[in-house]
Amino acid sequence: MRYRDLGIKTLRAAPQDAESVNAQLLLRGCFVRQEMAGVYSWLPLGLRVLRKVEAIVREEMNALNSQEVLMPALQPKEYWVQTGRWDTVDILFKVPSQTNKEYALGCSHEEVVTPLVQSLVQSYKDLPRSVYQIQTKFRDELRAKSGILRGREFIMKDMYSFHRTQEDLDTYYTRVLDGYVRVFERCGVSVKVVEASGGMFSEKLSHEFQVLTDAGEDMVLTSPSWKLGQNKEVATLNEGDACPDFPNETLSWSKGVEVGNIFQLGTKYSDAFGMTYTAEDGSKQPVIMGCYGIGVSRLVGTIVEASHDERGIIWPDSVAPFQIHIVSLRGKTEESQQQIQQAAQDLYDELRLQKVEVLWDDREDVSPGEKLADADLIGATTRVLFSEKTMAEGAAEVKQRKQKEATFIKVENLIGKLGL
Ligand code: ATP
Ligand code: MG
Repeated sequence: MRYRDLGIKTLRAAPQDAESVNAQLLLRGCFVRQEMAGVYSWLPLGLRVLRKVEAIVREEMNALNSQEVLMPALQPKEYWVQTGRWDTVDILFKVPSQTNKEYALGCSHEEVVTPLVQSLVQSYKDLPRSVYQIQTKFRDELRAKSGILRGREFIMKDMYSFHRTQEDLDTYYTRVLDGYVRVFERCGVSVKVVEASGGMFSEKLSHEFQVLTDAGEDMVLTSPSWKLGQNKEVATLNEGDACPDFPNETLSWSKGVEVGNIFQLGTKYSDAFGMTYTAEDGSKQPVIMGCYGIGVSRLVGTIVEASHDERGIIWPDSVAPFQIHIVSLRGKTEESQQQIQQAAQDLYDELRLQKVEVLWDDREDVSPGEKLADADLIGATTRVLFSEKTMAEGAAEVKQRKQKEATFIKVENLIGKLGL
């Protein structure tokens, strides 16, 4: 991709009302555009990252034998009345029609998925089932000030599972928990798994996945090496206590962002819709459900909060918008200019041939300083710079975004040395 084809305009300074780091950097880097508080457009750079995160989520959900579906955002009011949530969920957007009817804009999909799966499940042979979607959610959030961490419209992966027995749900729930840890690891963020309510045998068993950063709204009691944590409501340990698994470390409170949440629903929704299956002995039994959410767009913002420096974003390789960012500077003489251009073009062509995601900043009307600042802001994994200085040595300057030092690599060795 050539820079000018991206059609973006980066900003030196963030808009004044952008308070959080993710909003500042994503807006400056032209990854997203704010349309109003809590509502964003995804621009080409941002969408590349979002799609990569989605692909990781999708792979891990498929590995859990879940089937991808796509349910509507516009939902019948009757479903929400049926579960009693039409009048109790304060963040539910309610949409009037010109025909005097009202609809719900989905903030979650239990109300749609339960009757949907109900229509496909009759007997014990049809269970267990698991379906998921990656879809736009709407929530009438009062505070939407943390950039894409808390949107009024946002992308969520929501999965729902349906079981005959509590044991079967427990087994699946544990598999999902492990799958979630893999999703976040692959996205380059480290999570603490926090038991959110109840104990192992409570009907309300639930876990949150928290990324520790000051941008978070939640509080997590944990220690550096501990993969677990406790939240304010259920904490059985105290600040200063020795960590149960790492006695050399003491527990302390940190701020966290909830990037995922898994929940054993029991029969709450199957009871509301009368969802039963015929058991082996012919009796009708209620279906037992679990639900599992990942804030896909929030995860993108969380990665920015967890991985940046004063110059811009440092994307983990797995979700970087580009692997290679070529910067070619103008030569002073026609000859040097031609050399630079040719070397950059050759590398660009070869990388594209190898299906490496490469961005080439070949703009001629932009200063070297601006190009380098843009590369740091955008945060592609590796920057390859061609200039008079590097070409004098028949080389390019190669720098990893996450490292400080750059190295010169001979042009003919570039492809090999880039490690692609
Ligand atoms: P929170 O506690 O942050 O309000 P929640 O507990 O209501 O979220 P769920 O209903 O479990 O969230 O939704 C699943 C996931 O969707 C959450 O773990 C979070 O990552 C994400 N999410 C929830 N609300 C928003 C929002 N307003 N904007 C972006 N992502 C969100
Ligand atoms: Mg929550």
